[in-house]
Amino acid sequence: HSFILRDHNKCVLCGICVRTCDEIQGVGAVNFTFRGYATRISAFENKLLQESACLSCGECVVRCPVGALLPKNGAEPTYEVKTVCTYCGCGCGIYLGVRGGIIVGVRGDSSSPVNQGNLCVKGRFGYQFINHPERLTTPLIKRNGRFEEVSWEEALDLVASKFQEAQEKYGSEALGGLSSARATNEENYLFQKLLRSLGTNSIDHCARL
Ligand code: SF4
Ligand code: SF4
Ligand code: SF4
Repeated sequence: HSFILRDHNKCVLCGICVRTCDEIQGVGAVNFTFRGYATRISAFENKLLQESACLSCGECVVRCPVGALLPKNGAEPTYEVKTVCTYCGCGCGIYLGVRGGIIVGVRGDSSSPVNQGNLCVKGRFGYQFINHPERLTTPLIKRNGRFEEVSWEEALDLVASKFQEAQEKYGSEALGGLSSARATNEENYLFQKLLRSLGTNSIDHCARL
């Protein structure tokens, strides 16, 4: 499995993962299989977890009391930062685990009224993009077929001039904007205000693409 390590030798067959998957996640991807000494926790037909109905949420991993289920590539953080998941508009509360200036894990914030500590696969395991070497951290402008790093001022000036050019040539209705479900409500509000101030109502967001 891409995110979960399973060690059947450590499993004490407490059934917490089975109940978590069934009663909290409503998935039922794992259950007791075989009988007697051969009993083990596995997916339907003893399939690999990644080939089962498992959604990779990791809720069973969080609750396993003996380390039979562990996050892959997980390291012990030296400190945590309380924040909000940026992946979708639900806004689940999370703690980012940090070690040596790098994010090494995520756990749900049980005091958050939104998710009460539960997370989906993106919120729990999709944090590698933060420290990814190919992550874009500055705006880029394509010149002569190559992307060049530029300042925000230069990028915004270019966008404004292109908007103006299109507006003059084709009218305001030719303009449109796509916002992001990963932005906050306030940012999305400001985005639609900006577009409407330019004279267009063509506004949408990435979750519908
Ligand atoms: S990761 Fe989530 S969906 Fe998969 S077995 Fe565990 S609780 Fe069920
Ligand atoms: S929660 Fe851990 S120890 Fe309990 S049955 Fe599942 S894998 Fe085994
Ligand atoms: S954890 Fe999942 S459901 Fe929650 S905000 Fe992140 S992406 Fe959305």
